[in-house]
Amino acid sequence: MQRREFIFALSGLAVGFALRSGSAFAGNKVVIMQFSDDGKPLRAVTLDKVVRDLEWKKRLSPLAYHVTREQGTEPAFSVPGYDKHEPGLYRCVCCDNALFDAATKFDSGTGWPSFWQPVAPQNVREIADHLFGMTRTEVQCALCDAHLGHVFDDGPKPTGLRYCMNSVAMKFLPHGHGNNARPDNEARHASSSLFNSPPHAGERAKVSLREFHVKWG
Ligand SMILES: [Zn+2]
Repeated sequence: MQRREFIFALSGLAVGFALRSGSAFAGNKVVIMQFSDDGKPLRAVTLDKVVRDLEWKKRLSPLAYHVTREQGTEPAFSVPGYDKHEPGLYRCVCCDNALFDAATKFDSGTGWPSFWQPVAPQNVREIADHLFGMTRTEVQCALCDAHLGHVFDDGPKPTGLRYCMNSVAMKFLPHGHGNNARPDNEARHASSSLFNSPPHAGERAKVSLREFHVKWG
């Protein structure tokens, strides 16, 4: 490799790393929608990004840490709850950010909990992922950058999307249990305008579940 090409490749790596880490360009503030544990939208708030690497290592299970902080994947069908449909709210296991309502969960047959829409579009972040030579769309928690899973274009109506998540990246709060835990970061600004943003249903090519099984599993 010529020296010039080598430098170009290095700069590409640096850009790739910065995009992956997100905060290099996004700053340390993020706007999310807060929800009660009963799944009701409360308000949009601007929060500091949650960064607690040492604490997460102590508090999370080794598998949850590997999935959320090291972009891992739990084995399919391995974690109970992927096929449960009890009404409730799924929050980020790292920072309590509200992620998915059980009302949008569906049976994908993949062995991972699958949803057709996040609870609020700004609560998750989608990033092109080129790991293992494949192009996929990674889904992260917008508040703490936890890796949650990937989103595909072969989901059911109304969005046609399949948010394929890792069970260990989320905690489930069944409706009516009376605990109103919310992201523990201090709210500094409130606005409800972002909540009305439509979900990002794409024009992307559809891949059937059969093809999914051939490709992935
Ligand atoms: Zn989080």
